[in-house]
Amino acid sequence: MTVTVKNIYCVGRNYIQHAQELNNPVPDSPLLFTKPTHALAIANGQEILLPGDRGQIQYEVEVVLHLARKYEPGIKIDDLVDLMALGIDFTLRDVQTELKEKGYPWTLAKGFINSAVITPWQPFVGLEAAMQEEFSLEKNGQEVQRGNIRNMIFDFASIFEYTAKHLGLDAGDIFFTGTPAGVGPVSDGDRLVMKWGEKELGSCLIKLSK
Ligand code: ZN
Repeated sequence: MTVTVKNIYCVGRNYIQHAQELNNPVPDSPLLFTKPTHALAIANGQEILLPGDRGQIQYEVEVVLHLARKYEPGIKIDDLVDLMALGIDFTLRDVQTELKEKGYPWTLAKGFINSAVITPWQPFVGLEAAMQEEFSLEKNGQEVQRGNIRNMIFDFASIFEYTAKHLGLDAGDIFFTGTPAGVGPVSDGDRLVMKWGEKELGSCLIKLSK
């Protein structure tokens, strides 16, 4: 299946407990940022190369959605979204802290090569079914994050409406919809496994550059 990806949109601080664990205020409108398409990689069990010389890298597991068509006001999520995946929004946390302090954009901390790792695409199960399932991340066989989209601060409809209004939203755009609590560091050799319920959707092996 060839899936075209146009823009990679991401939502920050979309789960209360995650905003709190990083001592960030809970936003009153969706906190959006983007990643270059060069950031994208599919987790097929292979090695993923990440920068080893830029401070701590943290995992953030998220539900990722792919849009089938252009957004129109009032469109149903199930008509708009055709594919889903789980993804890791890799973050250079020390770099991000520095950028935040300077008031600079987050691009260097969030948009580096291989910073948007996703499982192979699956057909979207539908909004109702998606709310019934939990997603999780395992690091070296231990569960480190678990979430349910019911706990998002901004639901898919609000995120899409807001993004379409300010930035545009069309077929091929994808969305990282925010991470639940439990983010933490990765080290060289870590194996990360993303699960939808009990089903493993994809995995990767972390390789840090020298
Ligand atoms: Zn994130």
